[in-house]
Amino acid sequence: MYILCRHLRGEYILSDTIAAVSTAMTSSSGIGIVRMSGPDAVRIADLVFRGKRPGKLSDMPSHTIHYGYIFDGDDIIDEVLLMLMKAPNTYTREDVVEIDCHGGPLVLQSVLDLLIRRGARPADPGEFTKRAFLNGRIDLSQAEAVMDIIQSKSTFALKNSVGMLRGSIKDKIIELRKSIMHDIAWIEASLDDPEHIDSADIGPLIAEHIQGWMSEIDGLISENARVLKEGVKTVILGKPNAGKSSIMNVLLGQDRAIVTDIAGTTRDTLEEEVNLAGIPLIIVDTAGIHRTDDLVEKIGVDRARDSLKDADLIIYVVDRSTRLDQNDYDIMDMIRGRNVIVLMNKSDLECRADAAQIADKLDAPLVEVSAKEETGIDQLAALVKKMFLSGNISYNDQVFLTNARQKAAADRARDSLRLVARSIEDGMPEDLFTVDLMDAYEELGHIIGQSVGEDMIDAIFSQFCMGK
Ligand code: GDP
Repeated sequence: MYILCRHLRGEYILSDTIAAVSTAMTSSSGIGIVRMSGPDAVRIADLVFRGKRPGKLSDMPSHTIHYGYIFDGDDIIDEVLLMLMKAPNTYTREDVVEIDCHGGPLVLQSVLDLLIRRGARPADPGEFTKRAFLNGRIDLSQAEAVMDIIQSKSTFALKNSVGMLRGSIKDKIIELRKSIMHDIAWIEASLDDPEHIDSADIGPLIAEHIQGWMSEIDGLISENARVLKEGVKTVILGKPNAGKSSIMNVLLGQDRAIVTDIAGTTRDTLEEEVNLAGIPLIIVDTAGIHRTDDLVEKIGVDRARDSLKDADLIIYVVDRSTRLDQNDYDIMDMIRGRNVIVLMNKSDLECRADAAQIADKLDAPLVEVSAKEETGIDQLAALVKKMFLSGNISYNDQVFLTNARQKAAADRARDSLRLVARSIEDGMPEDLFTVDLMDAYEELGHIIGQSVGEDMIDAIFSQFCMGK
């Protein structure tokens, strides 16, 4: 059965009943959930569910849990708990039934197949969340936050996405759009009614407002936020035997790279993700940088130089038990001016490296560590935290746009506002301001899904996982 649902943008769409396994199907687990949403969800559930208590689910009150069995004809498929949630206070705003089954892929697939045979349709990836959006329960920034929560790699990213899901971005954007629209209306009105509003007042006032809006948008966009979401691209550098692999292993807490006493054995680059003080580091362990004629090693050294190009952080490991040599000087020349932390490794041994010479060459903090004794790592973590959680980034309630699509829209809104500011400076006529202000208004709308086309909505939700 299809019914017409009112779209939040005023159009009407067809809605049928969808079903999917909402938990991971890759392995067996304690429980697995099959979820169904749509106008027929309760009717279909009544066809397959026999509760311990008599009576039909359609007659039961909403938001209740029922114990019973899923039957395919006379065959029992599983013993389940069924969650009955009737519209409108549900994830999708439609009738939703969730069936807690035992968590084996076969049993979950059998329950899903049965629901489909009884009239449900397999859900597309992200379709439950798409319905929540289309039915007006959440905006697009919140829908994307759902996906980001699932994919969060760090405590920061998770907190940020939860903040976004709670609507903090939405509220800010709505406020910004409201005040931009207010000014557009005011400019229009003043042009229509020149006797009451002096057009000479318009430019300075709008210019002042633009400053405020731009700093609000700047507050939402932060380079650090990208880094924290995607991870800090970190390169570990140092001459052979400085202890790069050993440091990496300490950070990873496991033996992943091969550690040997022969110079130059770490021939390739390895990439690993570690979580240091809540910050995800994507670490590239490189072949020791040194002058070499060995072809394989040369490839590794070239790769190390390549990976330096887009690194957010360079960890330079110095073997403090030996004197600095030409390799060290080459490395320091290469990384000067970059975001560097120097690890003075092997602090358990006597110091022969001259720290003053390093301080001379590099403007970077030095940390004494011993990969062998696993000391100094806390100081490293504190430094990284200070570097990437400083400024306007912190574990507070501020929420940032970390999603590339949303950030691009915010950037375009800022560009449009800049154009207005320039028009004001150049003394352009006031009616020109409204065109760019309107563009900024529209672009901000894209962030929360206002004025976003059907194709873009499909593209966004298709990135979701199944059953969400
Ligand atoms: P890489 O070539 O820079 O990756 O260096 P490795 O991690 O392979 O380490 C080279 C050698 O130094 C190995 O024998 C390690 O056991 C040793 N080593 C690494 N870190 C320390 C440390 O903190 N103290 C001591 N005493 N030896 C270390």
